[in-house]
Amino acid sequence: TNSSISPKPVEPARLDSHILEQFKVLIGEQNCLTASADTDPYCREWRDKFFGKTALVLKPGSTEEVSAVMKLAYEQNCAIVPQGGNTGLVGAQTPDASGNQIILSTERLNRIRTLDADSNVAIVEAGVVLEQLQTAAEEANRLFPLALGAQGSCQIGGNLSTNAGGTSVLSYGNTRDMVLGIEVVLPDGRIMNCLRTLRKDNTGYDLKHLFIGGEGTLGVITAASLKLYPRPKDQQVAIFAVETPEKAFSLFDLARDHAGSMLTGFELMPRMGVEFTIKHAPGARDVLEAPHPWYCLLEISIGSPAVDGRALIEAIFEEAFEAGFVEDAALAETTQQAADFWRLRHGMSEVQKHEGGSIKHDISVPVSSIPAFLARALPACEEAIPGCRPVPFGHMGDGNLHFNISQPLGADREAFLARWEEINTMVHAIVVDMGGSISAEHGIGTLKRDELPAVKDPVEMDIMRQIKALFDPKGLMNPDKLIKSASSFKKDQ
Ligand code: FAD
Repeated sequence: TNSSISPKPVEPARLDSHILEQFKVLIGEQNCLTASADTDPYCREWRDKFFGKTALVLKPGSTEEVSAVMKLAYEQNCAIVPQGGNTGLVGAQTPDASGNQIILSTERLNRIRTLDADSNVAIVEAGVVLEQLQTAAEEANRLFPLALGAQGSCQIGGNLSTNAGGTSVLSYGNTRDMVLGIEVVLPDGRIMNCLRTLRKDNTGYDLKHLFIGGEGTLGVITAASLKLYPRPKDQQVAIFAVETPEKAFSLFDLARDHAGSMLTGFELMPRMGVEFTIKHAPGARDVLEAPHPWYCLLEISIGSPAVDGRALIEAIFEEAFEAGFVEDAALAETTQQAADFWRLRHGMSEVQKHEGGSIKHDISVPVSSIPAFLARALPACEEAIPGCRPVPFGHMGDGNLHFNISQPLGADREAFLARWEEINTMVHAIVVDMGGSISAEHGIGTLKRDELPAVKDPVEMDIMRQIKALFDPKGLMNPDKLIKSASSFKKDQ
């Protein structure tokens, strides 16, 4: 790789009281947290995997305030780490250990500015919690389809910056596909207003897409105009039991053939993951009488009253059963039951931590290669760590699995986690060999930063560094996330 075009960072300023005072003048003392009891929760993520220190958390309340603090930070050479709901999984939203990186929290940018049901557009600020937008859309008889396990805490700015995926990608796409425009504050404090609400706009380079999935390394997103969709008239949710990943794929193929774009969710769950969830997630319970090695959660969303959703999902079951793809199924009879089925799936991300260490992957391969991937990766892990408990689950319909490995029962947690890199390297080699991605939806952050250059085209990697240097010539914007800064100034921090 060509490191000559890496951003050339300046040495971040030490956050002394003189600098802190200047920020307080800009946004008010109450919106500048400095006591470690107040700043600590922003410095660590929920799994405690990533943590750092900061002398200052800023909570600006408007785009103008973000602009003012960014301008000051730029002049004073202060490094900024943008943070939304702090639910990211790759260590991109927490500061380093120096104490000198300022966290800019978007939690006070929490207004839904407009919601236009006729044009199907909402303009929302970055700190709006995803669930808050889902509810506002519902109240206007519209759908904002982005849905993920962290939706009660993650924020729109974080969703855009990670280009979050979730459980509705199959028919609505990733977050990127739901965005019409953004408003962003650049590292030097300039406000770039691309907050258009147009469905069609071919006026040159589409710069918003650099910030979507940019992990806060190019600027702070302050607001976005987002697409809304019609609410489905009917939704059918079912859990199908299957014996093998091959049969799960056959079921997916059959369901897609029957339902087309009405198939809005297709998730894979292994028995181990279901057992963990039943054990640790309040209210989760088994939905079928006998245990089965694998389960598929299907969701069908019907837009037209002319289509009988129940008949459709029953036809899928009957045909799949006759073909020998499916052993058993539970069809949700009520909205509550549908929510319970989803709870089983959504709970799976969180519960693994109660079973000791878990080595995680967020991989994608071409959709039809999921069974072949599992046929290679599962035995490789079982051979490397005898007794390990694989929990590969997730968005099978998108070719995306959270291929997680829980420690063997009774094993030493730290000794198991010490093998994280070794197991990642082994699994990622299989993924790359199959034409897949080492990060399907969570991003790169610090977790996968050093692996990225090896799997990305070198020219693409160099262009990414040039873009970073163009937007952030001083290297002050979420330093060392996604792309490592040239470390000329660095002492051992
Ligand atoms: P944060 O964690 O605060 O930040 C994430 C990144 O965005 C950081 O790089 C940060 O610097 C940057 N950032 C945040 N706000 C801004 C802004 N306004 N401007 C510029 N940069 C910003 N992810 C999925 O894709 N699919 C899933 O199904 C999924 N399920 C999850 C389930 C659980 C239980 C948990 C805990 C997480 C899950 N995630 C999932 C990961 C996470 O929820 C998403 O990445 C989410 O989009 C992060 O949003 P956040 O507001 O918490 O962002």
